[in-house]
Amino acid sequence: MQQRIKLILLPILLTLISLVILKLAQDQWQSWRSIIRDLPLWLLPITAVIAFQFNRSRLAYLSFLFLIYYAVERSFISDSQLLQQYAQPVFITGCLILTYLSLIKDRILFSIFGLINLVAIIICLFVSALLVHLINNNTDQLINTLPWVITPEDLVFIPWFICLSAIMIRSIQDVTLTTTATAISFLLWSIEYFQPMLFPSAMLFIIVSTIYLLSILFDSYALAYRDELTGLPSRRALYNLVLSLGPKYTVAMSDIDHFKKFNDTYGHDVGDQVLKLVSSKLSKISGGGKVFRYGGEEFTIVFPRKSAEETLNHLETVRQTIEDYQIILRDEKRKKGDKKSRSQASNTNKTVSVTISIGAANKVRGENFEHALKQADIALYKAKKQGRNQVCI
Ligand code: GH3
Ligand code: MG
Ligand code: MG
Repeated sequence: MQQRIKLILLPILLTLISLVILKLAQDQWQSWRSIIRDLPLWLLPITAVIAFQFNRSRLAYLSFLFLIYYAVERSFISDSQLLQQYAQPVFITGCLILTYLSLIKDRILFSIFGLINLVAIIICLFVSALLVHLINNNTDQLINTLPWVITPEDLVFIPWFICLSAIMIRSIQDVTLTTTATAISFLLWSIEYFQPMLFPSAMLFIIVSTIYLLSILFDSYALAYRDELTGLPSRRALYNLVLSLGPKYTVAMSDIDHFKKFNDTYGHDVGDQVLKLVSSKLSKISGGGKVFRYGGEEFTIVFPRKSAEETLNHLETVRQTIEDYQIILRDEKRKKGDKKSRSQASNTNKTVSVTISIGAANKVRGENFEHALKQADIALYKAKKQGRNQVCI
């Protein structure tokens, strides 16, 4: 849920707020009009190159296609009749391409997938032309059968609405910044068609580029500072936190007991699952502890402004929680097997549990973070030696 708010709702909300602010501050940027008009011609290709470099092939396609659209629109700006004539098929083509790109995965551009996507984009063009042809030739019939259709222009809402629904469903299923960026592009593309007087198209494409660049930036940040398996902050993030720590804090090192044996018994995949569960329990630690995956099955917990004695209760509680937690192992047969083995398997679901050992140490005056970490490691070693499943300081 939190993920959805962060990766879907927040970006959409921020875009809407930006649009409102831009609209309200219209008088301010009117005088920059000539610069704004040229900006997409620079921003879109730069965005395409960066997206390509970071393997965001979908954003690269979109930047490139928007660039073509914008350049063509700009050069025919004086021939408004021609633009008018092709507005509908171009709009539907854009909707179809955006929908298609939101449904696929990012793939290497120069591969067989790149070729498939190119063909798919051309197909979108043909499908759109066909749709417009069908709409134009059956307008009367369609208006008679569909009660809400009043003018022939209303008919464009049918393909638009189908695309909108597909993109919305996809955004909820595939919670990533790239999919959200595609959905926002769809929103801006619709504004460009339905409300052309609201913003100059240059402004919309500047917003599109900015959103793509920001989404690539945030994704890269997450990649560098978050551990992929557990979603916890990584060791790099720990050393970032160290820079902001005051003179008093406690460092704790925790390590899963006999994890190698656990892996050997249940397999590496189950080991990974357990690692995730332990991480999620650890991350809920009380007392303001900040949890990082130090590496492997080792986690570092930092308590700013607390002495080791003050953290003892919180560490003991989390250790107990993990000890008490019964992890249900699903029988592999259950997923693939027939009905019979499935009902048998549901009775043979085994539960396992793991324990952790923790060592904690104060930051000593005159010594640095590495020293405190070393002391925590020594305390951890002591906890292991004394029989594991305990906290030592
Ligand atoms: P001890 O109680 O002394 O800590 O015993 P241990 O078996 O946990 O000892 P050790 O720390 O040497 O073993 C760490 C094991 O953790 C080795 C490896 O199999 C496992 N491990 C490390 N990272 C991962 C991971 O990302 N996934 C899985 N499944 N296992 C991991
Ligand atoms: Mg270890
Ligand atoms: Mg271990």
